[in-house]
Parts: sequence; C-alpha cells; structure tokens
Amino acid sequence: MKVFKFGGASVKDAAAVKNVAEIIKRFPSDELIVVVSAMGKITNHLERLTDAFFYKKENAEAVLNEIKTYHLNIVNQLFEDKNHPFYQDIENTFVELYWAIEDEPTNEYNHEYDQIVSMGEVISSKIVSAYLNCAGIKNQWVDARGLIQTDNTYREGKVNFELTEELVKTDLFPVVHANKIVITQGFLGGTSENFTTTLGREGSDYTAAILAYCANAESVTIWKDVPGVLNADPKWFDNTVKINELTYQDAIELTYYGATVIHPKTIKPLQNKNIPLYVRSFIKPEDEGTVVKDTKKRLPIPSFIFKVDQLLISMQPKDFSFIAEDNLSSIFDTFFRHHVKIHVMQLSAINFSVCTDNDPRKIPALLKELQENYKVLYNEGVELCTIRYYDQATIERVVIDKQVLLEQKSRYTVQLVLKNAGVLR
Ligand code: ASP
Ligand code: MG
Repeated sequence: MKVFKFGGASVKDAAAVKNVAEIIKRFPSDELIVVVSAMGKITNHLERLTDAFFYKKENAEAVLNEIKTYHLNIVNQLFEDKNHPFYQDIENTFVELYWAIEDEPTNEYNHEYDQIVSMGEVISSKIVSAYLNCAGIKNQWVDARGLIQTDNTYREGKVNFELTEELVKTDLFPVVHANKIVITQGFLGGTSENFTTTLGREGSDYTAAILAYCANAESVTIWKDVPGVLNADPKWFDNTVKINELTYQDAIELTYYGATVIHPKTIKPLQNKNIPLYVRSFIKPEDEGTVVKDTKKRLPIPSFIFKVDQLLISMQPKDFSFIAEDNLSSIFDTFFRHHVKIHVMQLSAINFSVCTDNDPRKIPALLKELQENYKVLYNEGVELCTIRYYDQATIERVVIDKQVLLEQKSRYTVQLVLKNAGVLR
C-alpha cells in the first residue's frame, strides 16, 4: 500500500487534474491511498469567506459565488457529459455551504473556520474521484473525517493516533482492498461529536503521513511542482541543488525552520515506522526526486532556508531586575497561551529576545500582555535564515546587503535573524 499526496498546485485546474490521472496510471499494480488538497489557492478564499461570514468583512455570498464559479469552471472542462450525475452532487455540496453562511455564526471563530474552510478539500477530492472514475481509473471516495480522529482544538486538531489506527484498519483497509484506489482529503479530521477539524495550514502532507503510519504503508510520495528537496528556495536564490537523499533528522530541521516543500509535522510519524518519504515532480513524474529515509548520508552541501515576515521581540523587565527563571517561566507561559511559536531565542542579563511569525491574529494581544511587565521592543519585517551544515561561504552568501540582528550557532546549524527582504542572487 502506497500513500500519494497531491497538493493545491497539482489540482489547480482541469489540466492539472488530468495530469494527476496520468500519474496514477503509472502505478497499475499498487494499492493507493490518494490524499488531495483544496484546489489552487482555494483555502485562502475559504478563509476570506469565513471572515466575511464571521466578521462581516465583505459580502459572504459574493465570495462564495467566486469560489463556486472557480470549481464549476474546472468541472465543466472535466466532464463533457453535462448530464453526468456529478453535476448534481457538486451543486448539493455548494447548497449546503450557502445554507451555512445564511445563518448568524453561533460558535467561536475557530470552530466556524474549520466547518467552512474544510470544504475546499471535500470538493476537490470529490472532483478528482469522479473524474478518475470517468477516465476509467476505478476508485472510491472516502471521507477522511471518519478516519482521522482529533480532539476539538479547532484549526490545529491533535490527532488521536490509537483511534485513527483502529479506524484505518477496520474501515479503510476493506475499501482499499476492494477498490485498490481510494481518494480522500488532506488537512481534515473529525471529533468524537462529528465536527470537522483541520490540522493546521498546509496540513495535507501531515494527513498523508498519519494515514501511512496507521496503515503501515510501504511509502509516501508527495507530488510537487519542484523536482524534490532543494538546498535553498528557488524563489530567493538561483543555483540551487537538488538533494537526492536525506535523513529524517535533517528533513525535520529543514522543514521546521521554513523549508515549505514538506510540512514539518509530516516527518516524525514516518520516521517512527521507518516509512520512506519521496518528494517528486508532478511535472516530470519520471524523475526520481528526493527520498527522506533512514540513511547515514549527511546533506551533501549546506542547505539554507528563510522564514520571512518574522518579528524579533526583545523584552527587558521594567523594574531593572535580571531575566531569571521566574520571568522566563511566565514569558513562556504567555507565548504558550497565545499560541505563538518561538523560532529562536537569546538570553542576556537583562534582555530576552525571541523570533516568531508576525501573525496579525495573535501578535497584538501577545505584545499587550508582555508590555504589562516588560519594556518590549520589536522589529517587524525581519527574516530568519537557518543554515544546516553551514560554512563561512554560505553565511557570507546569505548576509549580503543585510544587517544581522541576532546570530546563533550550534554544531550543525546556524540561525541568523536578518533585516531586509531576500533578493535573487
Ligand atoms: N488546503 C490546505 C492549505 O492550503 C491544506 C494543504 O494544502 O496542505 O493550507
Ligand atoms: Mg497547499
């Protein structure tokens, strides 16, 4: 049994969906669990829809019309027979969404968010499944919300692996054995009360890993618009090199600090069961790509990743005391309660600095609370650069034209907080 994951870019239009069919055809003798994301950038538009519904930021119905038109346009290109029953199915799915946004929001924001935003994956998986069946690739659509069980932490559902594993064995295995191919949704989970949760933005990779873990799959393949894992993001740098093979540990380090090619939570479940993860190009599916596995090989060259739109916060106790364990403990507690993740931190006698994502939904409230006890200074628009297996030449390459605000070195990794946007060089 293999798990495949197709992200938003790989199903962004009709041609892309047809290409997915071509890729699946290359594996005629495998049992496949196929995980798909919402099409293109639809999740962002569903977030807009949620805000329109919840905060009345814009006309919710107009936003939903846009979302529907985008999908129908793809459906029209995929199904020539306009009487195909799928047209009714997709119509019904949208009717439910229109109903959902007609009422006033009754629940908290994160709960409403998950009920609406999850529809991107529900719709895309239905389209892909129906199209594949239509194209002669027999498959069964499966609702991931009935398999991946989470608590009710909306927008960041915590997976109950034990329960999920049980459901995968009792409910998913028979469907896979009977149909050989199943199509399901990334990013989604379900609670014991049958509400929908999501696993955090870009969480579809994680879904693939959860299912592979629970099914003891032989491998996971993430099909991407890049040839594999590169030593730097081609968006910021030319002269990138593809890494053929890397360890789980290096993959975790690189993805945790911003290598967006794989979602960071993906690696651990696979490492625990020693399941290899392939990252391959959906544009050139014949190419080998990258494999993440248990290997002795270190990265062949320094790899560097940027997290942009970071915030560097420094705190000094207002009463001029030192930063001691009691302050630290309350500072960490504050970050924890505001769900703000610390990427790097540095401590001196009267100053504590941290680098975080500059998330407008979380940061203002965090800063306000910190300001009660600390003099808080912050730098917006900074970048965090992490270099794995660094050398001096690579450090010099990334800091050109930039001011280094903070630097931290360990044996294999250096992290730099830099001022100024990255430019291609
Ligand atoms: N559609 C979700 C997102 O855009 C999940 C994913 O693509 O992995 O965040
Ligand atoms: Mg995506």
